[in-house]
Amino acid sequence: MLVIANWKMNFSLSQAIDFCTKLNNNSHHIPIVAAPTLYLSHLLVRFKNIISFASQDLSANPDDYGSFTGEISAKMLHDIGIKYSIIGHSERRTNNEETNDIVKNKSENAIKNNITPIICIGETLEARNKGSYLESINNQYLESKPKFGKFILAYEPIWAIGTGNIPTTDELNEVFSFIENIIAKDVTLVYGGSVNLGNIGLITAVPQIRGLLLGKASLDVIEFNKIIESL
Ligand code: PEP
Repeated sequence: MLVIANWKMNFSLSQAIDFCTKLNNNSHHIPIVAAPTLYLSHLLVRFKNIISFASQDLSANPDDYGSFTGEISAKMLHDIGIKYSIIGHSERRTNNEETNDIVKNKSENAIKNNITPIICIGETLEARNKGSYLESINNQYLESKPKFGKFILAYEPIWAIGTGNIPTTDELNEVFSFIENIIAKDVTLVYGGSVNLGNIGLITAVPQIRGLLLGKASLDVIEFNKIIESL
């Protein structure tokens, strides 16, 4: 299983180092830490041989270098040793107006630079309640997916992120079967949204789920280690 920690905009540098020092990397599961971009170089120098790191975003601009103030290219991230990048997280789609087209461009930039994109999709509560969630997932997937290369697909229902609510087993089975059988064959599938030690068994029982994307539960190294050990 992939176990991806999305720290978002959290931790001081010393807290980040402390987490990485205590992280259990002895299991056969693969922890990937998506740290704030500013800390990545530092963490890579200290932990490169024992932990894989991801960025939480990268530039949509296809250029490696240029006059794009504040942007960080996939090439730059690759140069420091980044192997994965979370792309199109719902917080970026909502707060930064990131469209499916932008997500596609970012994913292609990542792939061109040997970074595996972790592309996030997931329906709103409104789409879930209206019953149009499969259509919404389908459209988001088709419009966000890169034209080439391998990627990881994270299904993160927006109504489950940070809320403590998770889909039922039936709901997970329905969506993951739909994704695997109908829209995204041969793609590594990950679930994200309020995963914790208490509900992990229910989630990992779904056969298509090959990894977990953790927000809140990735901010406590003791809980994070227990999650890895429970898999
Ligand atoms: C996320 O934001 O990707 C996420 C899964 O958050 P949480 O685990 O806190 O719901």
